[in-house]
Amino acid sequence: MDKDILVIGGGTGGLTCALSLAKQGFKVTLAEQAAFPRFGNTWVNDTETVSFEKYNLVTPLPGELVASVARKAVFLTPDNKIRFGLNRFFLYSLKMDAYQKRLADLCAGAGVDMRFGCAATRLIYEDGFAKGALLRQEKSDKDLEVRAAVTVLACGPRTLLMKHLPPSLEMDVACNERDFVSAIQEVRAVDPVAAAAAIRKGKAIDDSMVVFMGMPDVGGYATFLYQLDLARGTIALLAGSRDQVPGVKGPRAMLDENIGRLGFCREKIFGGGRPIALRPVSDTLAGNGIALVGDSGFCVCPANGSGTVPSMISATLCADAIAHALKNGLSPSRENLWAYNAAFHRGMGANFAGLSVVQKTLVTLTDKQAFTMAASGAMKGSDYEAVHSGHLVRIGPFDAVSRLVKAKGARGLLLKAGLAGLLAERVRAHYRNFPQIWNPDTVRQWKNKRDALVKFAL
Ligand SMILES: Cc1cc2nc3c(=O)[nH]c(=O)nc-3n(C[C@H](O)[C@H](O)[C@H](O)COP(=O)(O)OP(=O)(O)OC[C@H]3O[C@@H](n4cnc5c(N)ncnc54)[C@H](O)[C@@H]3O)c2cc1C
Repeated sequence: MDKDILVIGGGTGGLTCALSLAKQGFKVTLAEQAAFPRFGNTWVNDTETVSFEKYNLVTPLPGELVASVARKAVFLTPDNKIRFGLNRFFLYSLKMDAYQKRLADLCAGAGVDMRFGCAATRLIYEDGFAKGALLRQEKSDKDLEVRAAVTVLACGPRTLLMKHLPPSLEMDVACNERDFVSAIQEVRAVDPVAAAAAIRKGKAIDDSMVVFMGMPDVGGYATFLYQLDLARGTIALLAGSRDQVPGVKGPRAMLDENIGRLGFCREKIFGGGRPIALRPVSDTLAGNGIALVGDSGFCVCPANGSGTVPSMISATLCADAIAHALKNGLSPSRENLWAYNAAFHRGMGANFAGLSVVQKTLVTLTDKQAFTMAASGAMKGSDYEAVHSGHLVRIGPFDAVSRLVKAKGARGLLLKAGLAGLLAERVRAHYRNFPQIWNPDTVRQWKNKRDALVKFAL
């Protein structure tokens, strides 16, 4: 079967890419290993809202959200003291399976050949180019060969397909266990009387994103947050930690402890989890006949693991580059698809590269240090807001002095973070000059300079 494009993976990245290309008149097949209708991430993803308009992404419907779009954000230490906050924080809290099902319906409506329960087992590779893949339908013992001008991998980094890419494609996809954060997200029913009592006693906060920092025994680079919605009778909870580090508690234990502490959470309505890879974005999002989208290309904010909007932005930029090459009768070579690589790295990727530098410092924090930083008053709600939308935290000279004055007991840490921030700005500026066109010498020089810069990351 011959197609223009084969997309492997039906998450937000793959679906957005397939939809955009089908709308432009291309013949697209999408293979998703999970069967319809039990496909799509089984949890809630919080996404910033601005990019939906900017990149013309499919806007969520009210029924696909589990909480109001504008709410407060409150940052506490485990002693339940509020350390800082934001009065209005805009988020889409997307019920991922519902949103992804609608994207899949839109794809089918636009003519995408949608194949659920169909796993890609092997890439077809000829003359230095990816040329499609072998697909295996659930319960079948035969492979279906789908040939395509471009194969888009949107299947996440952990599939065998990603691990066995032909070396001569020169795709930078290696991933180490230390790069992962384990995350679980659940939505639960609440006992309304007990929840209302907890709110009255100041033990819980309604209609806000409540983020805990510096929790004991979970490492300094860990998250626990909840969003209680008494009007809907639900609570969304998220926990993440680097539990591959000895002595660090995993997300399941974090969730269970906090569910016990809150005291009003009842049965699970839905939820799930998996490890999130937090390594720098791949230098090679485009290769000969192949492109990496979303988590497959590590297009994930390294500071907090947000990857939904990045997956859709990378998908949109990828679709634009593929469409441009194919419409102009160009071979889908690395050179002719490079525009995607350049567009991502010069934009969102530049911020992510800077945040990767800061992340190197953050992962070294102990939970006590994270507590000290949060409790010292050295951090602000606007820092969280910037990182949440994938931006670097900007601190002017007066702000820096005022934070240093406040940060008794955390000045060393703050200075370390400040130095990482300065280096992050330089790395970001370098990515803004990511080579616009593929040329081996220019790309090598750019990479050498990048490697020299990031080697100073603490
Ligand atoms: C618990 C948790 C909470 C999260 N919270 C947030 C959040 O609040 N905000 C945010 O922005 N991000 C969040 N993320 C990250 C976000 O979910 C991902 O970054 C995003 O889903 C990436 O989209 P994707 O399309 O690249 O990959 P995925 O959504 O992982 O989709 C990949 C798809 O490929 C399919 N697949 C895999 N292998 C094959 C194969 N061989 N053949 C066919 N199909 C295959 C899979 O079944 C899957 O459907 C969270 C992640 C987790 C685990």
